[in-house]
Amino acid sequence: PSKKHEQLQRKLEDGVRELWFLVKAQLKLMKSDSQASSVKDRIDNLLTDVGDHQRTILADAQQLRDADGGLAWRQREAHALQDLVQRRLHYLQNPKDCSKAKKLLCNLNKGCGYGCQLHHVVYCFMVAYGTERTMILNSQGWRYSSGGWEKVFLPLSETCTDPSGSSRGPWKGEKSKDTQVVEMPIVDSIYPRPPYLPLGIPEDLSDRLLRLHGNPSVWFIAQFVLYLQRYQPYLQQDIEETAQKLGFKHPIVGIHVRRTDKINTEAAYHSIAEYMEWVEEYYQLLQKTQEVKKKRVYLATDEPNLLTEAQKQYPEYDFVSDNAISKSAGLSSRYTDSALRGVIIDIHFLAHSDYLVCTFSSQVCRVAYEIMQTLKPDAAANFHSLDDIYYFGGQGDHNQVAIAKHEPRNQQEIYLEQGDELGVAGNHWDGYSKGVNRRTHKSGLYPSYKVEEKIELVKYPTYPEVEE
Ligand code: GDP
Repeated sequence: PSKKHEQLQRKLEDGVRELWFLVKAQLKLMKSDSQASSVKDRIDNLLTDVGDHQRTILADAQQLRDADGGLAWRQREAHALQDLVQRRLHYLQNPKDCSKAKKLLCNLNKGCGYGCQLHHVVYCFMVAYGTERTMILNSQGWRYSSGGWEKVFLPLSETCTDPSGSSRGPWKGEKSKDTQVVEMPIVDSIYPRPPYLPLGIPEDLSDRLLRLHGNPSVWFIAQFVLYLQRYQPYLQQDIEETAQKLGFKHPIVGIHVRRTDKINTEAAYHSIAEYMEWVEEYYQLLQKTQEVKKKRVYLATDEPNLLTEAQKQYPEYDFVSDNAISKSAGLSSRYTDSALRGVIIDIHFLAHSDYLVCTFSSQVCRVAYEIMQTLKPDAAANFHSLDDIYYFGGQGDHNQVAIAKHEPRNQQEIYLEQGDELGVAGNHWDGYSKGVNRRTHKSGLYPSYKVEEKIELVKYPTYPEVEE
């Protein structure tokens, strides 16, 4: 299939989904406004029928995507691209002469949670890839593990972990060119900003990536996560045994319910019912193409009592949960070796689920979504976020382009001319997105289906030393 074919296929699926979000949201509004019970009944029937109609079209579109060798091609291409980038990273990380290698020093001491710290290292690694420097990770005194990073993950290099060099200094962009060891600040305060930041993708791979994947920016970020999180053998074994013990089997939907310290500081409260609505959507869609005997849900959460509540409220589902966090609940115990095991395991099983329901405001959930991209050829659409769209802390502008004109119908909506560039702030998952029109500087709502992603292509080094 050509790039055009692949992109149209995904656009069709996105369009069907967005249409359903709109109809569903509008009908639910009408139902809550309406007094007459006969009208309510009619709306309920319409919700059921239109939902079923949507899922039938979506299932057909997905099967069409896989037909005629589409699936085999996608699997081959995803594997080839991933293998290429992983070999480039391996090459970068294993210089022949460590004493002469250009290095980028990254400190694992950002004052935040595991997902946030991992993303900090990802950003360092991306700059290292962009500047052809071997990344040296300093994980001494890591809040999550007294033994450091290598306690759980393989070292980032077999030949070069020594941070010393003939010259050393902080990141100064181009001016750092001749400094052997460059030390990175946190992304929030980096100056000058390197071009090597999310959501950009490497130009040399862009044609293949834009053809293969529904979200190439996440795919590229995921490559760094994949290289970073290569489990130590004992952790690998622990995870395999845990999968057995928990009965982690497919099909399964992963849900991540982030509560405790996040609520009302960085995110809103969401009831278990809000997550389960999308779990049910997933299983109804799956039932269009296969028989589902057990509706399994992997539950990850920092809320100790949630598992019991979920089991009571949803007896027709099979909840699987590691639940390690409940044993060590509380903020202080969050940063210990046992908390580290808990969060790695939860992220692992969320990522290995077939579909993810969570809040993208949480870094735990975003890491799981990233890893999911390394396990399937294109899992860009295998999620539902109850709040934000995907983002990477410290990212450059996230832009979209209007593919159709839009006349605002009320005060909240904005005008779009075909070709207008927009900075997107969020999708309300009701058919509308919010953003700023960069031409008119007006902020507001516009129909999500009238825009397309604009992905920034970055001139990364092309690593000709590593064979295709
Ligand atoms: P965010 O605060 O949700 O954006 O994510 P961070 O990873 O930066 O910090 C939250 C921390 O809380 C995690 O790193 C974990 O230590 C803990 N945590 C949050 N949710 C879960 C969960 O579902 N399971 C486990 N085991 N830990 C969690």
